[in-house]
Amino acid sequence: MRIPKQPTVIIRHCPEYDIERIQTLFREGLATLGLKPTGRTLIKPNLVAAGPLFPHAHTRSEVAEGLIRALQELADDTLTEIGVGERCGITVPSRAAFAESGFDAMIERTGVKRYLFDEVPQVEIRYTHEGRLRDYVFTPEPVAKADFFINLPKFKAHPWTTVTFCLKNYIGIQDDRHRLIDHDHRLNDKIADLQYIVQPSFCAIDAIIGGEGRMLTPKPFPLGMIIMSDSQLALDAVCCSIVGLSARSVDHLRLAEDRGFGTTDLANIRIIGDVSLDEAKRRASGFQVGLIRIEKYFEGSRITAYAGPPPEPEHSDYCWGGCPGALQEAIEVLRLYDQTCDSKLPRMHIVFGAYRGPIPAQPGEKVIFIGDCAEWEGPINGELVQIRNVYRDGRQKDPYKASHDDVFAKMASVSMKVLWNEGTTHIRLRGCPVSVCEQVLAVVALSDVNNPYLDMEHAVPFQKNYLAWRANQAMQRLRGIPYQKPGTCSRGHAAPEVFAEDKHG
Ligand code: SF4
Repeated sequence: MRIPKQPTVIIRHCPEYDIERIQTLFREGLATLGLKPTGRTLIKPNLVAAGPLFPHAHTRSEVAEGLIRALQELADDTLTEIGVGERCGITVPSRAAFAESGFDAMIERTGVKRYLFDEVPQVEIRYTHEGRLRDYVFTPEPVAKADFFINLPKFKAHPWTTVTFCLKNYIGIQDDRHRLIDHDHRLNDKIADLQYIVQPSFCAIDAIIGGEGRMLTPKPFPLGMIIMSDSQLALDAVCCSIVGLSARSVDHLRLAEDRGFGTTDLANIRIIGDVSLDEAKRRASGFQVGLIRIEKYFEGSRITAYAGPPPEPEHSDYCWGGCPGALQEAIEVLRLYDQTCDSKLPRMHIVFGAYRGPIPAQPGEKVIFIGDCAEWEGPINGELVQIRNVYRDGRQKDPYKASHDDVFAKMASVSMKVLWNEGTTHIRLRGCPVSVCEQVLAVVALSDVNNPYLDMEHAVPFQKNYLAWRANQAMQRLRGIPYQKPGTCSRGHAAPEVFAEDKHG
């Protein structure tokens, strides 16, 4: 796995989603970097959420189409396949995200292959590097077999990791069962570990319209740029600089640099293109990144949030990768589906981590303790309440035994839990993390807010794709295709070694 020692980042002006213009930019960018697609070429966009309510959450299909057309122009006999693969946000079938983002139509037009990462075999990759969270992880087979991997994310803010550019986009190279493992206070370490699975030969970011403030429901922020590179760490560092951040203040970028995945030092990055870095910064002036603590996020709303430290408080005093950020996204999703959401919410108190302060709940106001690490003791409306920390170190979780929680099963279990606790002062939601989906369902069950999974306009396409997804998995099992294939990675059992290449020197 070669990491260019002196990477190049190309910033190009692209005011609109004009496929021809994008194709030209990519053709020129690949030529400047001296790159040609070869073997199994796989493009990984960010399709975390799509459809009319999530127009700015995902890489636009026009950007992927321009790239594919440029790759097809440059292709020679060594190219065997161009594919596009992704696992969208959990519980929603990826086939729904491909359809609603326009990727399906684009894939048909361009004649490339579609890989739904939640419907392909998952293969084991062994880690051997120092500081790893675990010894092996799983990734979809097309990722493990890619000869020319292209990372194609969206330029967005993120509530858990400040920003989501290239490196964070790797969360989508795991299916639901494996994605949630370590998706907690060690999320940044997990993202840094995932870099060992594959490094892209080429990466580019859709910064034509950026996504500000959040990741599932970002506000549109026109930037009019496509940015490309032969090093994703360098590309992320330049994007950080554009929004006024030091790359090393973003933990997963700092970790990746310390582990040899390239440089974040702009002095060592060749920055070229028809948009200067200063002009790019001017365009991004005022762009809001994520990383807002939950207590502050809900100030002035009917939710009062309290957050104590997660396990390993010496590591972090706040769980940036888990339950608190998931609540932010859950409420924003509910606001999208129900414009009267805030007025329908009852006053509630939501507690994360080992919180030590008071909870001044009034009679009738529910207190919700979210996550296995929630811990608290004190009176709520005259009742003495004791919540114990039931967190188990995630390193004890075996990826071979990870199971998928069906959305309808989750709906039933969360509703039952809320019903069971009707009339009580408090409720406890277990899990590490408690996902966006579960928190959406819990808030729905505790209020009159509309359930997005049963939304009349979107329920039919969702259920159609859900049934197709489930049917395909059942068919694979009937055919004897194992969903998890231990040790069958085409690259062998171990993640490739990382070493720097003095490409331009
Ligand atoms: S239970 Fe939630 S808040 Fe606690 S460590 Fe896990 S993800 Fe973080």
